Amino acid sequence: MFKGPLPAEVNYRKFAGNSTKLEGTVPVSAFGRLKESIANDKGEVQAKLEFRRGKKQKTLIIGHISANLELVCQNCLEPFATGLESSFRWVLVVDEDALIALNSDDEGVICGEDSVNIVDLLEDELLVSLPMVAKHNEGECSFVAQHTDDDAIAAASSGESDIDTYQPFASLAELKNQFDRSE
Ligand SMILES: [Zn+2]
Repeated sequence: MFKGPLPAEVNYRKFAGNSTKLEGTVPVSAFGRLKESIANDKGEVQAKLEFRRGKKQKTLIIGHISANLELVCQNCLEPFATGLESSFRWVLVVDEDALIALNSDDEGVICGEDSVNIVDLLEDELLVSLPMVAKHNEGECSFVAQHTDDDAIAAASSGESDIDTYQPFASLAELKNQFDRSE
């Protein structure tokens, strides 16, 4: 098995024919698109890739990536560390027609006739593995939750100053009291 820094561009036909396994790292700084979504480009991404011939002469890459990245919390705008992991099984195809012809459970990727840029593919995988909204875990964020405008308006109109004791049905009870008194 090859170990070390992963090459970017590989001849996947040759690798699949030899059932090549690669295990190595890619510096985070090599992922140009990912850099826009993270706090800094320190560290490395670990990847294991296995090239295989599948049924009907399909070329497969089966693999796993893991990375420790720093993201920017969308609540407090401070960086925080998080681990990303993803397993994948790609079917390499050379054009759109071949992509459409795949089984629905195959994850197809379009690449060149003989070579594929695995850094690009790993970057796509990392991008879809990022959380939708980057946030500290509960209790670890320095951001103090503010009351929303709706809460403030409700509190003002109900005469309550403390949101914690705000009872949405308090005004109903009040109405009932008025009704009772009028009897
Ligand atoms: Zn935070």
